[in-house]
Amino acid sequence: MTAQLIDGNALAAQTRADVARRVQALKARGVTPGLAVILVGEDPASHVYVRHKVKDSEEAGLHSVLERHPATLPEADLLARIDALNKDPAIHGILVQLPLPKHIDAARVIESISPAKDVDGFHVASAGALMTGQPGFWPCTPYGCMKMLESIGYELRGKHAVVIGRSNIVGKPMAMMLLAKSATVTICHSATQDLGALTRQADVVVAAVGKRNVLTADMVKPGAVIIDVGMNRNDEGKLCGDVDFDAVRRVAGWITPVPGGVGPMTRAMLLVNTLEAAERS
Ligand code: NAP
Repeated sequence: MTAQLIDGNALAAQTRADVARRVQALKARGVTPGLAVILVGEDPASHVYVRHKVKDSEEAGLHSVLERHPATLPEADLLARIDALNKDPAIHGILVQLPLPKHIDAARVIESISPAKDVDGFHVASAGALMTGQPGFWPCTPYGCMKMLESIGYELRGKHAVVIGRSNIVGKPMAMMLLAKSATVTICHSATQDLGALTRQADVVVAAVGKRNVLTADMVKPGAVIIDVGMNRNDEGKLCGDVDFDAVRRVAGWITPVPGGVGPMTRAMLLVNTLEAAERS
């Protein structure tokens, strides 16, 4: 068997085009969705991510504001900026790029964002809304994974999904979203014993660890759907996921590549959340 690819680039392009159409409809009603992105410090990877986010927003017709601050910015000043953006009617979504410098309490900063503008979905109110099935913003990465499953018409009800990783931004919300679709969900982490025994029972595996080859072909049930969230570098310095892609694709039914899988969908879902924040306002 050779797995079919779930093409994140193509799905993200469709998603962005759909967002652009909805942005135009909203603009016709006098509302331009606005996203504010705050970057503190000089982390090179963060600079790249932020540049992409701003470019994506502008291409989709959103109003985007990029605030860059030096790494020495006092926490109180950052909180004051967020307070101002919370009150700014032209801004519907606020994103603070993580990681923040060590002297700033990231949890306090995230909690200072109005839940109505929490387009990253990291606020405890957003996490609580997801857990209890209330409307709210879903974190972009697991939300993008759900859209990828939806794009292949996959029926999750009654299926066994194994999520590897339990972070607040990927693993845990992923598990909640799969559960909400009536999958039976197993969450694995660094203390899980015999990971392969669990993944071999899975109809769907989501790998969100950050280590190469966490999922190898002998750990996969034939025909399973494999979603690879991981972002790592291989020996040649090229981007790769958590899954041993070349071997696993010979066993799985569907698989997401890295690059070109979950990454582009994560970016696209930020636009969706920002648009929806503006629509709700
Ligand atoms: P994280 O906070 O470091 O969490 C990693 C999780 O993996 C933890 O729950 C950890 O368990 C678990 N883990 C570590 N070693 C394991 C093992 N050998 N077996 C099973 N589980 C193990 O990372 P994250 O923020 O969730 O991100 C995960 C990966 O996704 C990273 O590579 C990140 O770069 C990538 N990512 C990609 C995107 C994208 O857009 N494509 C977005 C976000 C993240 P413990 O909890 O027990 O420590």
